[in-house]
Amino acid sequence: MARQRKVAVIGLSLALSAGLVALAGPAESRLPRQSPVDVTYGAVRYDPSLPLLHISYHHSDIQLRYVQKDASTPGGCSTRQHEETEEAEVEPGTAHVTLAGVRYDLIQFHFHTPSEHRFDGQTAPLEMHLVHRDAAQELLVIGVPLKAGDPSTVDKVLAALAPECGANVHVGEIDLNSLLPHERTSARYTGSLTTYPYSEGVKWFLMKDKTVSQATLSRFQHLFTSGNARAPQPLNGRTVVVDRPHI
Ligand SMILES: [Zn+2]
Repeated sequence: MARQRKVAVIGLSLALSAGLVALAGPAESRLPRQSPVDVTYGAVRYDPSLPLLHISYHHSDIQLRYVQKDASTPGGCSTRQHEETEEAEVEPGTAHVTLAGVRYDLIQFHFHTPSEHRFDGQTAPLEMHLVHRDAAQELLVIGVPLKAGDPSTVDKVLAALAPECGANVHVGEIDLNSLLPHERTSARYTGSLTTYPYSEGVKWFLMKDKTVSQATLSRFQHLFTSGNARAPQPLNGRTVVVDRPHI
């Protein structure tokens, strides 16, 4: 087994030296603190001194739009590129979080199938990313795994999916607070955007899972038949800190 791994490593280094890395596609980045990650038990530390994440979410009118990354490609309107997604636009000022006195406003939330983050190797069928930005343009993202079960607010958001080349879908008003799990425990680490340009310094808060109906899961998976998730990236010595002793 060890020998096979060594051979594989040599093969990879040859490929890199031959310049073949370009063929690996835009999901590759050589930066060291990338996202998503597989949260393994050994990487988790409990830190009782973490500042609380204060969440202030209210009601907002929502528009769902398709985020297209292949507009200049022939057939782009029907090709599902893996960095594309369905994104819900939030009315400015309707939701924000505060961390250590810094306010981050919710800008949008979007979805990946399967989940991008893993917990000890386990994926969820869907993951929601709620993207917040502060006045200095720093990003804080809350990730919520979504599993099949009782219907939730996510069912309303994804009831009709926006077409890749067409009009946005007007979802109507939703209670943003109901998107998050009741218990606000989080696992935190510093990572990156999971799509190009993979910018680092993103504060990630991974929360407990919520449910969504199987019908909504299937609708999203039917749109992204090859998935729209980036593979887990190496932790490279990073720890994941939790704000409760048990998560
Ligand atoms: Zn995302």
